[in-house]
Amino acid sequence: MADIIPFSCTHCGSETFTASSPVKTYKDFLGAVCAKCGAVVKEDDIKKKGLKIADDLVRDAFKKAGFTD
Ligand SMILES: [Zn+2]
Repeated sequence: MADIIPFSCTHCGSETFTASSPVKTYKDFLGAVCAKCGAVVKEDDIKKKGLKIADDLVRDAFKKAGFTD
């Protein structure tokens, strides 16, 4: 399992961030700084990304379980 969590800057789309501690969960992106544009990740940014990814995971899980919509 890779430790890398996909996350992109809501301002410039860069996926490189400078975080004060190793990022293991989306919450750890809070306060991280985009290496390209310098934007600081806010809670809302994480929520938007997190929710979308959660949706995708749920959809995948349902597909694997044989459910279709
Ligand atoms: Zn950026």
